[in-house]
Amino acid sequence: MAERVVICGAGVIGGSIAYHLAKRGVFATLVENDGVAAGASGAAAGILTPPLPHTSDSPVFELQRRGYDMHVELSRTLPEESGVDYGFQYTPRATIAATEEEERAARAAAEALTAAGRDGRWIETSELRELTGWVDGGEARGAVLLEPSAHVDAYRYSLALVTAAERMGATVRSGEVRGLATEDGRVVGVRVGDDVVEADAVVVAMGPWSGDSSSWLGLPVPIEPLKGQIVKVQGAPDITPFSFGRGGMYVVVKHEGIVFLGTTEERVGFDRGTTVEARDEILEFAVGFASGLESAEFVEQTACLRPLSGDGVPIMGAVPGLEGVYLATGHGRQGILQSPPSGLAMAELILDGATDTLDLTPFDPGRFATGSR
Ligand SMILES: Cc1cc2nc3c(=O)[nH]c(=O)nc-3n(C[C@H](O)[C@H](O)[C@H](O)COP(=O)(O)OP(=O)(O)OC[C@H]3O[C@@H](n4cnc5c(N)ncnc54)[C@H](O)[C@@H]3O)c2cc1C
Repeated sequence: MAERVVICGAGVIGGSIAYHLAKRGVFATLVENDGVAAGASGAAAGILTPPLPHTSDSPVFELQRRGYDMHVELSRTLPEESGVDYGFQYTPRATIAATEEEERAARAAAEALTAAGRDGRWIETSELRELTGWVDGGEARGAVLLEPSAHVDAYRYSLALVTAAERMGATVRSGEVRGLATEDGRVVGVRVGDDVVEADAVVVAMGPWSGDSSSWLGLPVPIEPLKGQIVKVQGAPDITPFSFGRGGMYVVVKHEGIVFLGTTEERVGFDRGTTVEARDEILEFAVGFASGLESAEFVEQTACLRPLSGDGVPIMGAVPGLEGVYLATGHGRQGILQSPPSGLAMAELILDGATDTLDLTPFDPGRFATGSR
């Protein structure tokens, strides 16, 4: 069994793997070249929406379903294990339909929820207004109301995972991973700056930078940064906890009356700058459905990079042809939600050689190699 595990990258995915390894008595070294959760993991909106039943054919359905359930369980133990309160909160969520086609899809989703015995239903725009008092609905034709749904403070949740792992015995080391040390087709260490940190198992969890590992692994790792911007506001009158979205855009009331408005999907390489165009697009969306937000005060605008894989599905599992090396990346827009089962499944795979938590077949790191499938 692997005893010296090195995890490259201390984002939410690396942190979750370290946490689940530590629960099994294996204390990993997380190597991080910036800060814990300094990338997308620290800047995400932290929305945790369970998947809708009619999406059950999707390869990430189980990852989302388990993700939501495990977050609920973790919220009862992780704050105490880590000493970090990361503000897990239930919030009703409405998916707005503003066109005829969206209404048809939303009504079908509501029916699927009812059939599955889940708490969700179609609501008219007037009910949206009554329920919230502040989402007036604009051009909405109605919405699917989903309860429960939840959110966390993404930075503090990621920090909680790493801190809990450290309290059990894991360590965080500063430095840039530059490659692997191998002997006879198996990994024996990780090159950090000019040093080699010895390892029996290595996990590459470097978020959007995971593609850098392609030359170390001799395997295509098609990961692209997908930039997302968020605008934070506060002070809108009578704001009650609620979250709504349409397509990839959303509004979520977070802690202490701060409202997160998001978000964009931009393919602009590793540029992490904020833009006026994104701010205007996001504000136009939010005010269009909740006009009261017009009088809210601007707090901050952030931008960060999601790790998006070549086919949009996470890359998780053992690297073929190089014993002891694993990839865990490509969680795109849902890495916070999907982190608990990802961390648990990866820990099981490293320690037991297999996992019961998830079928990892759709996430196979070898699927992009020439000649595979
Ligand atoms: C605007 C926005 C909103 C989002 N909202 C949500 C949401 O509401 N819900 C949700 O579930 N998900 C959300 N996400 C997605 C989520 O943030 C990501 O999927 C997740 O954070 C990815 O985690 P990660 O650990 O793979 O990557 P990262 O957080 O990028 O962590 C990777 C780490 O590796 C380090 N690293 C890189 N290269 C090296 C190296 N060579 N050596 C050492 N360290 C290295 C980096 O510094 C970084 O800290 C959002 C993302 C964005 C951008």
